[in-house]
Order: sequence, then structure tokens, then C-alpha cells
Amino acid sequence: MNGAARGPLGLVLLGATGSIGASTLDVVARHADRYALQALTAHTSADPLLELCRRHRPRRAVLSGCAEDKALRARFAEAGCELLFGAGALEEVAAAPGCDAVMAAIVGAAGLPATLAAARAGKRLLLANKEALVMAGPLFMRAVREAGATLLPIDSEHNAVFQCLPQHGGAATLRGVRRILLTASGGPFRATPLEQLHDVTPQQACAHPNWVMGRKISVDSATMMNKGLEVIEARWLFGLPAEAIEVVIHPQSIVHSLVEYVDGSVIAQLSNPDMRVPIAHALGFPDRIESGARALDLGAVGQLTFERPDLARFPCLQLAYSAILAGGTAPAVLNAANEVAVESFLAGRLRFTAIGQVIEESLARVAGGSAEAIEGVLDADARARRAAAQCISRLLGQAA
Ligand code: NAD
Ligand code: MG
Repeated sequence: MNGAARGPLGLVLLGATGSIGASTLDVVARHADRYALQALTAHTSADPLLELCRRHRPRRAVLSGCAEDKALRARFAEAGCELLFGAGALEEVAAAPGCDAVMAAIVGAAGLPATLAAARAGKRLLLANKEALVMAGPLFMRAVREAGATLLPIDSEHNAVFQCLPQHGGAATLRGVRRILLTASGGPFRATPLEQLHDVTPQQACAHPNWVMGRKISVDSATMMNKGLEVIEARWLFGLPAEAIEVVIHPQSIVHSLVEYVDGSVIAQLSNPDMRVPIAHALGFPDRIESGARALDLGAVGQLTFERPDLARFPCLQLAYSAILAGGTAPAVLNAANEVAVESFLAGRLRFTAIGQVIEESLARVAGGSAEAIEGVLDADARARRAAAQCISRLLGQAA
């Protein structure tokens, strides 16, 4: 799809006030002729959203976590922007006729309904919201197929794999592929003595060595649950079994992932760690457009190193592989329990090392089901949240 040939691409940005939202707007602003912003969304941060609307002039804006407010609507109208309220408006803008492409950059399970609505409406879907795919893999991929949507990965690893896979007729294929290798930085605690992990703070967990990201994904990177979610994401995006998806620690975050072929060739994608690179790739695809990222200077980088992940240090990674093998709604349970545990850790209640324990217990307690229908997925999500909350209450009771 070429924006220049067909006129500007109508773009909806879900999660505009977040970290991916900011990087997306930065790339879009470099190519004003290619993209026409249809809508920007945020949950409750009205002032930051209004500021973005003044600068980027979308047609519409959504505050999904706010009730109708006339005064606020008037302030957005002054910026030339129609303001909508409530979670339902996310699905409305994602499926609207003027929208050609949707950047799904809401964090967590909350992004599922709008991301799925975009898939069902056959949009070009730029997927950052990995949790949506983790929760509802089979039904999500079916919606993409049935509606003829185009799914382009934004997660840097999956975007790298997509770039390294053979392309036939505009789609990535698995011809000759033996396996994929997802790289992981290992996060801020890769070399922290194990006995110190018990006492790490949210601030330490959010201080990622290579990437500046939202707080939830930063904690996921510190536990390596982020990589676990990404293994599940890759399983659905590329249709590979878990045995063909390997994780390798690469602390420099320069090689973003690799594809190994049956002849022994391994193809990798490299760049400086800057989310504008995968975002520009997906926004421009199949064209290449400027991202604003610094050019890679390998001489300055010096060394690229690799090591195997230590599963004793990162039990969450193993839990994610177990959830894929269990199948059905197990990944939805894993994801929901993780969201509850991470929120509790970020609030200063739960210990870092208990995050994995809460997820493991929730997986054991919530009975499995089918992930073919949305009702089953949402029910598993709700049951996992209750199980995780109970587990956390018990742990806090024991600690008191
Ligand atoms: P963030 O916390 O910086 O931003 C989240 C956005 O979602 C905000 O705009 C917020 O208003 C909105 N939001 C939060 N809760 C919501 C709710 N309940 N309903 C509707 N909107 C809500 O997060 P982020 O780091 O930009 O990550 C967004 C997604 O992209 C996540 O799924 C993350 O895993 C994925 N991702 C992020 C990065 C990164 O570098 N930040 C890299 C790869 C993938
Ligand atoms: Mg990633």
C-alpha cells in the first residue's frame, strides 16, 4: 500500500499518550503527506491528549476512561477535534470507514476489544499491544484471516523476524525456516545476585538498560515475562510451534531477532534500540521511510554478545512456555495474573520475586477452556484476576 499513490493513509492511534504512541507520532510527523490522523486515544490523561491534538490535529480523540464532560469536549473542539468518551468509542474509531490503519498501542488486556475490532474490520493493523494476541491468539488470527486484515508486528523482535522471513505475494512465509530466535536484553537484573532480587524496587525494575518504555512492559522485561509473552505472540503471528521459538539473551539490544533456515543460514535484523525503527517499517511497508533513528555504528558498539537465559533467575519465561503447551485459555490466564501481579508490585505491595509465584498459582487454580470464542477468553481473564488477587492477599497476610 503506498500512501503517496493513494492519498494519505487514514491512521488511528490507540494509546497515543504512551511510549509507543509518542514514537509513532514522531515518525508520522516526519511524513505529513503520507498519513492523515483520524483519531488519537488515551485512557484518562485529558491534558496530555489535548496537547497532542493541538500539535497533530487528528479529526477525533477518545478518552476511554472518562465519562461525558461538556467542558472538556469544548476544549477539544477549540483544537478542531471531536472528543468521544468511554471504552466503546475505542472500537468505534478503530473500525470507522475513514480509518485505513490502526496502531494498537494500548497496554494490557484493555486493548483487546479495540484491537480485535480493527482486525474484524479488515484494517491494516500495526500491533504493539502483544497482550491482545497472547490472550486470544486463535480467534484473533481467525479474525485477521476472515476479514483480510494485514497484521504487521511492532514489537521489535517480531518486526525483526518479519523482516528476516521470506516474502511471497506481500506476505511473510515459513518456506525453508527451521526456527526463530527471539533476542532478549535480560533487563536490569540480568547480573544482579539472586538473593538481592527479593528486595528490588519498582524504580529499579523500571530502569531498563536499553529501552525507555511504559512501566508495565518495563517490569515485564525485568522478570522476562515480556519475552514469555513474546514467545506466545510469535507462536500466533508466525504459526510456529513453541519448540521452534528459542530465546537468546543479547544484552546490547542491537540484534532484534533472527531466523534460522534449514540450510544453516541465519538471518538477523539489526538497528540501534529505538522503537521508531519497527514503527517506521510497519507504517511504510512495503516502502522504507525515514524513522529518525540514529544510524547504527558497529565500530562504536564494539561487541555483540549472546548467552542462554537462566530459567532459575527468570521463572516467568518457563511459565509462558508451559502456558503455550497447555493451550486454550492458559495464555489468557498467564497474562491476566501477570497484569494483576505487576500492578501490585508497582504499587509497592508485592515483592518482585512473588510475581512468578502469583502467576504459577493462578495457572494451577484456574481451569482451562477453549480460546476460540471471546466469551471464554474474557471469562478466563476474569477468573485469573480473582485467583491472582486472592493469592496476593494470602502472601501479604503471611508477610504481615
Ligand atoms: P504506556 O503505558 O506508555 O502507554 C499505554 C497507553 O495505553 C496510554 O496511551 C494509555 O492512556 C493507554 N491505556 C492505559 N490503560 C488503558 C485502558 N484501560 N484503556 C484504554 N487505554 C489505556 O505503554 P507502552 O510502553 O507504550 O506500551 C504499549 C503496548 O506496546 C504494550 O502492549 C507493550 O507491551 C507494547 N510494546 C511497547 C514497547 C515500548 O518500547 N514501549 C515495545 C514493544 C511493545
Ligand atoms: Mg519486544
